[in-house]
Amino acid sequence: MKKMYLLAGLSLLAAPLFAQRTLIHCGNLFDGINNNVQPQMTVVVEGNKITAVQKGYTTPAGQDRVLDMKSKTVLPGLIDMHVHLESQTRRGGAIDGFTKNQADVAYQAAQYAKTTLIAGFTTVRDLGGSGVNVSLRNAINAGLVDGPRVLTVGKSIATTGGHADPTNGYRKDLMGDPGPMEGVINGPEDARKAVRQRYKDGSDLIKITATGGVLSNAKDGSGAQFTEEEVKAVVDAARDYGFPVAAHAHGAEGMKRAIRAGVQTIEHGTLMDDEAIELFKKYGTYYVPTIIAGKTAADSARRFGYYPALVTPKALAIGPKIQATFAKAYKAGVKIAFGTDAGVYIHGYNAKEFEYMVEAGMPPLEAIKAALMTNAKLLGMDAQIGSIETGKMADIIAVSENPLQNIKTLQAVQFVMKDGKVYKQ
Ligand SMILES: [Zn+2]
Repeated sequence: MKKMYLLAGLSLLAAPLFAQRTLIHCGNLFDGINNNVQPQMTVVVEGNKITAVQKGYTTPAGQDRVLDMKSKTVLPGLIDMHVHLESQTRRGGAIDGFTKNQADVAYQAAQYAKTTLIAGFTTVRDLGGSGVNVSLRNAINAGLVDGPRVLTVGKSIATTGGHADPTNGYRKDLMGDPGPMEGVINGPEDARKAVRQRYKDGSDLIKITATGGVLSNAKDGSGAQFTEEEVKAVVDAARDYGFPVAAHAHGAEGMKRAIRAGVQTIEHGTLMDDEAIELFKKYGTYYVPTIIAGKTAADSARRFGYYPALVTPKALAIGPKIQATFAKAYKAGVKIAFGTDAGVYIHGYNAKEFEYMVEAGMPPLEAIKAALMTNAKLLGMDAQIGSIETGKMADIIAVSENPLQNIKTLQAVQFVMKDGKVYKQ
């Protein structure tokens, strides 16, 4: 008895002498490496790490805690390569830029982050906001806020009037002339400065808007908006800091310039033609489709007054095309990463994208793997996340059915553990 008190006392001062193990008894385990589920397995978690994966249901010893997932399929935490944690679509939301302070954005973002985590997404790549997303990442890492592991671009880089110029559609005296500091560039010098500013801000990677976009309050939704020289300057400067570059692109010309300049991923890719497909394959560029965002934007545009007048026709023209583009790109052998553009639709529905990918001809196994090891590698984190293997971080989720047989089961995640901590049970 005395000894117990002594141990308890010590554990207040330092790490416990004997780490408590958590044994997850998995009815089925999809580990992200094998192409099938394995029945009756145990995943052993100590602290924030997976320390063993064992056949059968390991008997607990000492202070071991057992999590009974015998009626579930257990799999690695999912990864989304394209989210916007600072914002969420709503009717008339274009006014938010004038009415919301950074603190308002931060509280909202904390809520969206939690929703995303509870939906089974334990790591996300935030592809653009005001910079509050950098603080959000830090708050999550510090344990102040519940959310997925975040890698963020901070503010996207655009050209004047381009998609992600933060003052598009403003009254002239409010518009000003945003520059590299605000992520707006014209010419290679500006491009380098904007990348270095993102480095200084604490971004993890760079995003550019290589073509027009649907939701910016501007007329053109697909034309090229960076010269090849500008994209090249971004990619070269980013390389100095170890930053990959993600490029938003709907139109083919802007997409081709970005691929040739060496970006890592193309987001949306809506109007890719055969030449673009060949370039994807030649350069090994990954395609992040965001089908759900296209469908949601088109649906919203059919509701009167939802978007500004300039946005509605773009959403109707571009949105519905993405799923067919994805089908074509996948069949042609373009490498696919999983990403959804969360925020353009309501946060937490990220896993609906799997259903759309499967509907378009990708087998469930490949769609799920895109959101696991493929994404982990692109984030440079394949030694830490993306699979359930000894030594990896304990990012683990569970669903009711085998997702290889019913992909929709991923839309109702039953259990979420991130970094060894349980967030949903
Ligand atoms: Zn986006």
